Amino acid sequence: MKTLLIRNADVDGRILDIAIREGRIAEIGANLRGEELVDARGCAALPGLHDHHIHLLGSAALLRSVQLDPCRDPDALARTLRAADRMLGPGEWMRATGYHQQDGALLDRHALDAILPARPLRVQHQTGGLWILNSAALERLGGEPWPEEVERDREGRPTGRIFRGDTWLSARIGRETPDLAALGQQIAAQGITGLCDAGVTNDAASAAILADAVRMGALPGELMLMSGGPLAAPEDGAFAVGPVKILLDDHRLPTIDAVVEIIAHARSWNRRVAAHCVTAGELAVMLAAFEQAGAMPGDRIEHGSIIPADALSVIRDLRLTVVTQPGFLATRGDRYRALVDAEEQADLYRCASLLQSGIPVAGSSDAPYGPVDPWQAIGAAVQRRTASGASLNPAEAITASRALNLFLSPLDEPGGPARALKIGSPADICLLNTSFAGWLADLPAKPVAATLSRGTLIHIE
Ligand SMILES: [Zn+2]
Repeated sequence: MKTLLIRNADVDGRILDIAIREGRIAEIGANLRGEELVDARGCAALPGLHDHHIHLLGSAALLRSVQLDPCRDPDALARTLRAADRMLGPGEWMRATGYHQQDGALLDRHALDAILPARPLRVQHQTGGLWILNSAALERLGGEPWPEEVERDREGRPTGRIFRGDTWLSARIGRETPDLAALGQQIAAQGITGLCDAGVTNDAASAAILADAVRMGALPGELMLMSGGPLAAPEDGAFAVGPVKILLDDHRLPTIDAVVEIIAHARSWNRRVAAHCVTAGELAVMLAAFEQAGAMPGDRIEHGSIIPADALSVIRDLRLTVVTQPGFLATRGDRYRALVDAEEQADLYRCASLLQSGIPVAGSSDAPYGPVDPWQAIGAAVQRRTASGASLNPAEAITASRALNLFLSPLDEPGGPARALKIGSPADICLLNTSFAGWLADLPAKPVAATLSRGTLIHIE
C-alpha cells in the first residue's frame, strides 16, 4: 500500500509530516516514511474548505457568459453586449449574467432588441430569479403556449421577462454542455474540497452530469446535492443527497400551508429542508411554516440576507442553521448601501449576532451570484468592507478564525464544529503558502499553495 507524504506542515502549531494512504490520513507525526508528495516548508495545513451553497452548473455556464456586473449605466451595458456579439459566430446564443437594474426601467424584450436585434440573447438578473430575452431569443423558443413564468403585456405578447423559469427555459433551449473541469480547477485553486449544490432544479439528469464530473476528477471528491423533488444518491457515493430546497419569492409568496406541505414532503423523503430567504417577508413566511410544521436540527435558512432582530430568538428556538454569503458584502455592498433602507442595513448579512444568539452559521459563495473565492468572503466577514472601502454593518464582524470555521464544518452539518486534520479522516487538505499568522496579517489575500482531495493533489501553485 503506497504511503504519500506532506512533509513539514504546520498542523495546529507543530511542524509535522502527514502520511496519506488510500485517500485517508494514516498518520501525523515527525519523520514519517513514504513517498514525498509535497514539502510544506513549515506552512499551515488546514482541512479543505467547504462551500455550503453553490450552483455548479450555473457557475460553469458563467465561464461562458458575458459579465454585466461591472456595467454602471445602460450605455455600458449596450457596449458590453455589442462587444461580446462580435466574438460569437452567427446565430449562436448569447448568455449574459449579473445584470442589475440601473436608473431607468427594468430591461425587456424591446430594450434588448434595440441593442442586439438579430442574435438570440438572454440576460440574467443578478438575483438569478429573472431572465430577459430579446425577440430573436423568444422566436427560438417556439411560441405558444407560454407557461405562467413568461410575463405578458396587455395584448398577451411576452415582454421578454421570464421569472423563475429555468427548468422550462433549459428544456426549450436544450441543455448546454457546462465546462465543469474549468470550474473545478477554479474551485480547487481556492483550497475547496467539498461542495453543496443548492439548486432547486437539480434532478436525475443534472445530478448524473455532476456525478460524472466527480468520478472523472473534474470536481472535488465530496459533493452534496439539494433538489426541489425526490433525488436518489448513486451507489458509488459520487454525491450525497442533501436537504430539499424551498425557493420562496417575494413577488409571489406562497401560503404558509403550501410551505408546510413541502416540508411534509421533505420529511416523507427523510430529508431536511433548506429555505431560500433573502427578504424579511420570505423569512417571516418560512419561520411561520417551520413553527407550524416543526423544524429539525439541520434545517437551514439560505442567505438570511435580511434578518430582523426579533427573528433571532425564533431562529434559535427552531434550531435552524443560517448559511450565509459574506462575499456579497464585498461585491454588492456598495449597492446595498445605496438601495437597502437605512433601518434594514443593521439586519443585512448578520453574522456576529447570529453566533452570539447560539445559531449555527455556515459560509458559502452562492456562485455564480457571488464570488467562488472563500478567502474574499472570509476577509469580508472580518472587515465588513464594500468594494469602495465603505464599512457595512460593522457590528456584525467576526474574527478571522471564526470566519474560516464557517467554511470548515461538515457538508452534512453546516455550522457544526470545524473539521480538523486527524487520523482516519479523508485526506481533504488545504495547504497554505504561509503560516496561520502570516495569512491573518495578509487578509483577504488567497493563501492557497496546494489542495488535496481524497489524497489526490488537485491543485498546486
Ligand atoms: Zn443560491
